[in-house]
Amino acid sequence: MRRPRRPPVTSQDPPGASWVAAQVPKRWLPRDYAALWHPFTQADEWEKQTENLVIERGDGVYLFDTDGRRYLDGTASLWCNVLGHRHPRLDAAVRDQLGRIAHTTMLGLSHPGVIEHAERLTALTGLDRVFYSDSGSTAVEVALKMAFQAKQQLGETGRTRFVALTDAYHGDTVGSVSLGGIELFHGIYRPLLFEALRIPSPERAAAGEEAVCLAAAQSLFERHGAELVALVVEPLVQGAGGMRTHTPAFLRALVDLARAHGVFVVVDEVATGFGRLGTMFAIEQASVKPDFLCLAKAITGGYLPLAATLTTEAIYDAFRGPYTEHRTFFHGHTYTGNPLAIAAANATLDAYADERVLERLPVRATALGTALRAVTHPCIKEVRHAGMMGAIVLAEADGSPFVAAARVGHRVSLATRRHGAIVRNLGDTVMVMPPLVMEPAESALLAQAVGSAIADVLGPSAG
Ligand SMILES: *Cc1c(COP(=O)(O)O)cnc(C)c1O
Repeated sequence: MRRPRRPPVTSQDPPGASWVAAQVPKRWLPRDYAALWHPFTQADEWEKQTENLVIERGDGVYLFDTDGRRYLDGTASLWCNVLGHRHPRLDAAVRDQLGRIAHTTMLGLSHPGVIEHAERLTALTGLDRVFYSDSGSTAVEVALKMAFQAKQQLGETGRTRFVALTDAYHGDTVGSVSLGGIELFHGIYRPLLFEALRIPSPERAAAGEEAVCLAAAQSLFERHGAELVALVVEPLVQGAGGMRTHTPAFLRALVDLARAHGVFVVVDEVATGFGRLGTMFAIEQASVKPDFLCLAKAITGGYLPLAATLTTEAIYDAFRGPYTEHRTFFHGHTYTGNPLAIAAANATLDAYADERVLERLPVRATALGTALRAVTHPCIKEVRHAGMMGAIVLAEADGSPFVAAARVGHRVSLATRRHGAIVRNLGDTVMVMPPLVMEPAESALLAQAVGSAIADVLGPSAG
């Protein structure tokens, strides 16, 4: 049956009936507006929105604002909280470490926790060496510089370029932005960046679309294979690109192409690592062993900043030699391998084992998918779901995109707060990324909150 066509949504559209003005935490926000600059946030909107929240504490999968209101954490505090907030084991581990030392450097010194954690990561991944830093961006930046320097020191000096996928996101530092392919985020910086070659990425895991992208990849490697240092890829899901998906077979084929041309493979599991897609690492689903693996976000359970770039012994060996040959990797961040973050990271791995987090994932992941698909509205173009990651893609009922000025995705994210949950949008795609421990009943509430918000902003689903 044809649905009645609703007129295009504009920024002037009145909010839905259930829209109730939030009580603004007046003590804090004016001071925020006066002193802060928020990431990925338009100040003109931020200072006017009535839904701004000041989060004071958390408990499990819930966040609490300064008015004591409770919200489901549908962003996993930006994709990194996996075990819930105020997890007793993680809290205790950080406190315990505080009783010894908060920070000591990795530059020329070591500490017990970091040795233990590196051993655990190498055992989990089959890679040999761990280089620590403090964010996903730096994990990628480190991989880029290591890969480049390794090729130089292996005598393959003609290899100076990188290839990445369209719609890729690898972080916000200049090197990782060079690999990024999201025009809205990265376009303005192009004059500052090195130019990466691009393989078209499939919008979703579908054989036909992937075949076209692979054919393009093949001809790119034939033309440029000898110039390339590395292929850099987010495995199975391009998160910040709006949850674009590809099959394990597609990933595998890309990796095979790179290998055939002597090109390193850098896998960015900053978003997908630590169980997000159902396996500890997404590469397990494609039986891929990269030369570099970038980890961050969930590595500390979402507690403290930490990142790791893993690589092979062969690459580590390419950096050996007498000091005066300058084969050393001259790179390191001040808080690299910070003991408090490492304590949280070790406790996270303990909790994964003890709480059988991965074993319990299938039930929770299926429930999240079911809950998201149960949200219906003529303006839902598509529901994407993999593991504990989901996205609701919004568009006009005829499938055409909303005008950007209508800020539909943004308004839906804000409206979700009125229904007791916090989510974030990427354009008109509403991302749903709960902690891995979110139970089926909570996922249902989270999805319902998003559904109610969609109805608030776009009108009830009756059309
Ligand atoms: C978030 C993210 C990054 C950047 O991590 P930060 O810690 O924000 O610097 C890099 N790659 C991917 C795939 C990400 O999702």
